[in-house]
Amino acid sequence: MSFKNLGLCDQLLRAVKEQGYDEPTPIQKEAIPVILNKRDILAGAQTGTGKTAGFTLPMLELLHKHKPEKGKHHVRALILTPTRELASQVQESVELYGKFLPFKSCVIFGGVKINPQITALKKGMDIVVATPGRLLDHISQRTIDLSKVDFLILDEADRMLDMGFINDIKKVLAVLPKQKQTLLFSATFSNEIKKLTDSLLNSPVLIEVARRNQSSEQIKQVIHPVDKERKRELLTKLINDGNWQQVLVFTRTKHGANRLSGQLDKDGITSAAIHGNKSQNARTKALADFKAGKIRVLVATDIAARGIDIDQLPHVVNYELPNVPEDYVHRIGRTGRAGNNGEAMSLVCVDENEFLANIEKLIKKDIHKFIVKGFAPDPSIKAEPISMGGGGRGRGGNSRNRNNNNKPRNGGNRSNNSSRGRR
Ligand code: AMP
Repeated sequence: MSFKNLGLCDQLLRAVKEQGYDEPTPIQKEAIPVILNKRDILAGAQTGTGKTAGFTLPMLELLHKHKPEKGKHHVRALILTPTRELASQVQESVELYGKFLPFKSCVIFGGVKINPQITALKKGMDIVVATPGRLLDHISQRTIDLSKVDFLILDEADRMLDMGFINDIKKVLAVLPKQKQTLLFSATFSNEIKKLTDSLLNSPVLIEVARRNQSSEQIKQVIHPVDKERKRELLTKLINDGNWQQVLVFTRTKHGANRLSGQLDKDGITSAAIHGNKSQNARTKALADFKAGKIRVLVATDIAARGIDIDQLPHVVNYELPNVPEDYVHRIGRTGRAGNNGEAMSLVCVDENEFLANIEKLIKKDIHKFIVKGFAPDPSIKAEPISMGGGGRGRGGNSRNRNNNNKPRNGGNRSNNSSRGRR
């Protein structure tokens, strides 16, 4: 099946062609015709499947078909995402695929000045991509009019709930027109997601594409057992021996990300850390430098890395295993994308064996274990409880974690606006 058969206008086909896409991905094949049929959808698809084009292309097609009066721009499509990075990337896609159409779009998130956003909104926008916290600020200041929204898209809805956005989302929903088309994307379907979809979606069509963790043969996964104290030494060796030029490394905590990045720099390996305590500018710069090949290693916490789209990322390293097993799947999904092979390795110390067992249970397979010569773990070292040290998920805590793990985690309660948009 080609993009042509999907019923998209010439302007969109031209934009797709410019991107070099030969044929639609599975989620695009399934979702585009259903969305063009004006149905609500509930889609199980992760980053890396081509889901962004899967909702952006038909959204643009429908906006194009039902044009408003010439020269008038009202917000007709609202896309909500959990993180700033994802919001920026989605808006970039909207601009990219819509470059031959006359629509205006902007991105709205916290952590940056609100005034430029107000100025942009005043000019009139057709499509707004936003994180919920800052959007609510605009709603309460009446600097955005959402009364003409035809399309609501919730991207990574499970993450938004994990991050404690449910009340914000409900407040946003309350100001939207009842009559609209809603598309909800989520990598997982918890009871909370089901509750949200029951109240939000109108006889949705269910679309599920294979989860990357269970299907992707393109990601080679390996565990390197190693003592905690020797992880950094091993990581440096792996990077140097393999002459890796672009590695995404995950730590569990912001502090751990900073410390590791500093240590790698000392070892002569250029790196930067991204996490929720870094300013938006610092995060954008780190990501741009990483993409441009100016730094070899990007050290990230789970939340900061969510939604990052880096094509052909060859290496992902779990310096520390995540305590939420689903995060492992999200992490390794950064590699082996869109037809490229990738390698995901995890440096696992004795303290993390329980995390590993939970991950293997989730992905329903044993991951190959390989001890790097000279790094065999000392059998006399006994497992110790893991301190989560404030984690990478500052806002709202994580219900899955509370349910599934008995290890403490400083999720913290969201108490005021100052915590808004910090990731
Ligand atoms: P997403 O899941 O939306 O984050 O997309 C992941 C990556 O797939 C992005 O880099 C897109 O540019 C790319 N992509 C999306 N659709 C296609 C397609 N039909 N063929 C090839 N690559 C695609």
